[in-house]
Parts: sequence; structure tokens; C-alpha cells
Amino acid sequence: MSELLIRQFPCLSDNYGFLVHDPDSGETATIDTPDADRILSEAEKAGWSITQIWNTHHHFDHAGGNEAVQAVTGAKIVAPSYDRHRIPGITMEVEDGDVVSLGSHKAKVLYTPGHTMGHVCYHLPMDGLAFVGDTLFALGCGRLFEGTPAEMWHSLSRLAALPDETRIYCAHEYTEANARFALSVDPDNHDLQVYAAMVEGERARGEPTVPTTIAAEKAANPFLRPNDPAIRARLQMVDDDDEDVFAEIRRRKDSF
Ligand code: ZN
Ligand code: FE
Repeated sequence: MSELLIRQFPCLSDNYGFLVHDPDSGETATIDTPDADRILSEAEKAGWSITQIWNTHHHFDHAGGNEAVQAVTGAKIVAPSYDRHRIPGITMEVEDGDVVSLGSHKAKVLYTPGHTMGHVCYHLPMDGLAFVGDTLFALGCGRLFEGTPAEMWHSLSRLAALPDETRIYCAHEYTEANARFALSVDPDNHDLQVYAAMVEGERARGEPTVPTTIAAEKAANPFLRPNDPAIRARLQMVDDDDEDVFAEIRRRKDSF
């Protein structure tokens, strides 16, 4: 089984497009469709034919290019069954625990409500990577447009339980702003300080900060650390539940 090839490129103002190619079968999936023209031209440059679209959720910067990509390539559309009425043309509806194939590579669907109620992530355990859409960001997490803090905390906890070395492909380049917020709630965290300095350098050089890893996020991302004593002390929430501490961190970020 050959290793998957991943082509990552900026789309719109701060999205990332990802093309995932299996050299053995010749199959290629685009993760979401932030910008159909850009995705089609990247596939052409790589010499890959897009055969599948894997949607994480219904937002326009994720599914807005579905029809244009499908019209040109005939790709099948894999999307959460919850979004069947708001993502047009789904060919395969998926739910938690379903498995999607790209050649002989397998992606397990993780249902991760919070940012939206239909949101799913695609975890490829054999390949050690996951596409997490707008659920988990480098040093951040998605805004709660549809779900509750408790739902999002549960979703993030499932991602945090993936193996430490799992490479995490987030759908937006938000890391520099996320780092500023993270330092405001967890200023003495040495791992976070090192991470934030690295991000600053990467962005200054115009490099992406995505992918990240589960290990890096567990050490530095405040949204995965509501049980951390220093964060709890700072928020004066020493005896609260993790999900309440998470809710407070999310609330502060919304108005940061
Ligand atoms: Zn979104
Ligand atoms: Fe988005």
C-alpha cells in the first residue's frame, strides 16, 4: 500500500484546500470545496483526477464548490447525513463510525457536532492523519454556531483521544490570532510559548502552520486543556466541570 500524497493550498481568505491522492488506485479526494476553480487547477497541476468530495459540514466555504467540482469531474459527494437537506447532490451520506475508502486507504467518520450540528471529521488511522474541518484548529477550535459548549467539548475530547502523533489538517489558517488568545488564558505555559514563537516565524515566512499534531495541541491549545490547573486558577474556576471551563474559554475567545 503506497503512502497517500497530500497537496495543501490556500483558498479564499484563510481556508485551506486539501487534495488526497492514492497512487495505487489513482483515486483523489478533495476535502471540502472552498474554491472549485482553485481545487480543479491544483488537481490538474498534480496530474490527479478528483473522484471524491469529502465534506465536513455545510458552510459555504466548505461545500460551496461541490456542484462545480462535481460537474467537471463527476466526483461522488460524501457528506454528513445530518446535512442532507443543506448540501445538494450528496451521493453517500455518512454518520459516526462509517468508513469511507480511498483505494485501499480507510477513513473513519467521527461525528463532531458543535461548530455545526452535522459536522464530521475524517480520521485515517492507518495513515496517521485526520481532516477536522472547523472543529479543531491549531491553538483554537471552531465557533459554536449550532451546537452547545457541552457538545463541542465532547467532540474535541474525541479528537484529543486520537494517537498523539496524528497529523491534524484544520480547514483554516487562524493560528496566529489563536496563539494571541491562548497566551491570554495560559501565559505561563512553556509549550505554548514555544509553539506561539514558532507560528510567528512560520507566518512571517509565509508558511502554513497546518498540519499540527494531537500531541502539540494537547500541550498548548487551551480548548483541549480545561482541566489544566493554571488555566482554571486564572479563570477562577478551580472546582468547575471541564465542560464549564471549556464554555468559559470559548466565551472569552468570542469577544477577544
Ligand atoms: Zn464552518
Ligand atoms: Fe470554515
